[in-house]
Amino acid sequence: MAQGCIFCRIVEGESPARKVYEDEAVVAFHDIAPQAPVHVLVIPRKHIPSVLELEESDAPLVWAIHRAIREVAQRTGIAESGLRVVTNCGKDGHQTVFHLHYHVLGGRGLGWPPG
Ligand code: AMP
Repeated sequence: MAQGCIFCRIVEGESPARKVYEDEAVVAFHDIAPQAPVHVLVIPRKHIPSVLELEESDAPLVWAIHRAIREVAQRTGIAESGLRVVTNCGKDGHQTVFHLHYHVLGGRGLGWPPG
C-alpha cells in the first residue's frame, strides 16, 4: 500500500467505492465524476504508479485487468454497444491519480479524437 494513495485506500476498504467487480488481483468501481453513462475504473490491487512501470512479471496482472474489463462491460450492459478503455499517463495524458487505472467508458457514442 502506498502512503496517501486514494486507490490503495479503496483496495484496503478504508475509502468507500461503488464496486462493480473484484477478484484476487483487481478491483473495479464507478468513477466518482463520471464522464459517460458508464464510467468504471479497473485497478490492480498492487500499487503501480502508471502503465510505464509495468514489468514482464506483471503479465498475469495485465491479463487479469483485461479479464476484468470484459466482466465490467458485461455487468454494466455495454459489451454489445461498445466501449472505450483509456489509461492516462503523466502530465500531458492528464493523469491525476498515480495508481494504475483503466477507465472503461460507454453507454453513449464517444467522440474521436479525444480532447
Ligand atoms: P486520471 O485523471 O486518469 O488519473 O483519472 C483519475 C480518475 O479517478 C478520475 O476520473 C476521478 O474522477 C477518479 N477518482 C478520484 N478519486 C476517486 C474516488 N475516491 N472514487 C472513484 N473515483 C475517483
